[in-house]
Order: sequence, then C-alpha cells, then structure tokens
Amino acid sequence: MVNYRYLGNSGLKISEITYGNWLTHASQVENDVATACVRAALDAGITTFDTADAYANTAAEQVLGDALKGERRESLEIFTKVYWPTGPKGPNDVGLSRKHVMESINGSLRRLGTDYVDLYQAHRYDVETPLEETMQAFADIVRQGKALYIGVSEWTADQIRAGAALAKELGFQLISSQPQYSMLWRVIEDEVVPASKEVGVSQIVWSPMAQGVLSGKYLPGQPAPAGSRATDEKGGAQTISRFMDDAVLTAVQNLKPVAEELGLSMAQLAVAWVLQNDNVAAALVGASRPEQVAENVKASGVTIPAELLQKIDDVLGDVVVRDAGKTLEGMPKTRPV
Ligand code: NDP
Repeated sequence: MVNYRYLGNSGLKISEITYGNWLTHASQVENDVATACVRAALDAGITTFDTADAYANTAAEQVLGDALKGERRESLEIFTKVYWPTGPKGPNDVGLSRKHVMESINGSLRRLGTDYVDLYQAHRYDVETPLEETMQAFADIVRQGKALYIGVSEWTADQIRAGAALAKELGFQLISSQPQYSMLWRVIEDEVVPASKEVGVSQIVWSPMAQGVLSGKYLPGQPAPAGSRATDEKGGAQTISRFMDDAVLTAVQNLKPVAEELGLSMAQLAVAWVLQNDNVAAALVGASRPEQVAENVKASGVTIPAELLQKIDDVLGDVVVRDAGKTLEGMPKTRPV
C-alpha cells in the first residue's frame, strides 16, 4: 500500500503517490479507461487526486468527479486549481482576480460533485492581479469552507515567501507548491525548496516520470510506441517534446542497470527518486492505463542508497536541467488568453 506524508506544516496527510488527470481524462483516454485508472488508484491505496479547472477545459474535473462518486468523501483528498483560461475564455475567465477565483471554485465543486476541496491551488502566479487581492479571495474561500487548505503551482521562491506571509496575516494556511520535478528537471532544488522549508510549504511534484520518458519506453532514433503520450496529437505530443531528444533518451536508457540493481522498473525508479527529497510530499503521477498505476505505486517506501543516487547523477550528466531561473522563465508574462 501507499505511505502517507504531511502536506507542509499542516495536519493533513496525503498519499505520497497522488493521481493526476492532466491530458488523460476527457482527452487522451475514453471515460471507461479513466474510471478504471481511478479505480486502480483507489485499489492500490491512493487517496489523493489532483485535477484543475483548465484540464480539458473543465471536462476533466467532471470525469474525475464521476469516477469518485460513491466513495466516502472523508477518505479522499481532492485537489484542484485555478488560473488558466476556462469556458468561453472571456477576459475574466482566467487569472487570480477575486472575480475569477470566487466563480471558478463554484464550478469546480459542482463538476467534482463535492462541497469542498481539500486543497485549492493557484495554477500559476498572476502578474496582473495584486497578490493581496488573490490571497484575500483564498482566505474567504477557506472561511466559506469551500477549500480546506491553499497551495500554489510554479511560483518562484520569492513569490512563495510573499504568499505565505500574506496567508499568515489573513489567518489561513498556504501549505503546498506544485512544481515540475524529476531526475531530468531539478530547477526547484536551489531556491524553491529552501524557501518552502522556511515557510512550512512542501512540494507535490508533477511529471515525476518526465511524462513517461523516464519509464525508458522511448528509444533514441526510433518511433514512439503506439498509444503513448508522444503520439497523442490532442496535446501530449507537444508537451512531451522538450524531452524527446536523442541525448536525453540515450542517457535514460543508461539508467536501466540502476533500476535493475534496486529490483525496480524504470518507471518505479523515477517515482521513487523524487520521493527521496524530504521536502516532497507526493509524486503526482499520471496514467493512460490502470496497469501503469498498479506498477507505479510500488515506488512508495523505496529507499535509494546514496551510492546509487550518485550513479544516477553520473549517468545523466549534463542532460539534467538545474537552472533555478527556469521557474520565472516559464511563467506567463501576461495573463494568457
Ligand atoms: P508523469 O510524469 O507521471 O507521466 C504520466 C504518463 O507517463 C502517463 O500518462 C503515461 O503516458 C506514462 N506512464 C505512466 N506510467 C507508466 C509506466 N509505468 N510505464 C510507461 N509509461 C508510463 O506525469 P504527468 O505528466 O501525467 O503529470 C502528472 C500530474 O501532474 C498531472 O495529471 C497533473 O495532475 C499534474 N500536473 C501539474 C501541472 C501544473 O502546472 N501544476 C502541469 C502538468 C501536470 P502514456 O501511457 O500515454 O505514454
């Protein structure tokens, strides 16, 4: 079964393997497969589920809500997010203004079929809304009981510090940061993680398998396997392209002996690796098939000895991205439309 970790400086425990439905529900996979993946997650002991209003332009929340129908609400931790454009994508259907935050939570709760989410996350930093306005809206949502805790995603170290200070002033808890983190993408290590530790925030990390690349199934110079994300023209092929480089794919193949030494699959090694970081509360994994969920959860509780962590670094060498500036670089400079 899956181990639990505290989320930030709070009393909330979440499953250290968390299931996410970006690009899959209401998009790459049919609803029956989506439901089977959620079922596989529940059967394996995953209790924490992550989605966003913007996934499949709100339809992914509905699919997840339907798949979780009938489950005991108190036995689940349901997370969603707000920021990216939704619905007809009008001028106020985006961002972290009070108007959009207060409206978006209502739509999310309706689609998810629940009275509250356990964690409500700012999906990015909104450079066009005063931070005070956003945090006041979050404070009101917490007071209304529509969200129990607040988190952010892909915020810089300074933004996390400023957000946490305001949350404290307003009397609610900012407990999580949701950044990309994997053996290949380590940009949070130098700044975001130390700042988060200072203010009682932990990481729920996305794409721990680099969208499937670290499973080792993409071979350099060869076509991607049928049905994989790299062949998904609805979005996956484009988002995974940053890793579809022969130097990266070759280095990943060279990790196989490390996985074998630990008795793990490559996918399990990737998930276990992010969980070695003690500021990480959960690896947020996706799946296009229930068998993947069953495989990936076995990464829970694995310890990778220091010499093998070093071997991983030696094998991957300079294909690893570590530049802390990438968080700011990747942030929208204006509100997206
Ligand atoms: P992963 O790195 O875990 O990639 C998951 C994909 O890898 C699956 O959909 C599947 O794709 C493939 N895969 C999974 N398990 C295996 C396996 N055992 N063997 C081979 N292939 C496997 O994470 P995601 O990129 O899906 O992101 C996870 C979650 O993180 C999202 O659902 C979302 O909740 C969150 N997220 C948050 C973001 C943010 O901005 N806050 C951004 C992106 C994601 P396939 O079978 O199609 O190849």
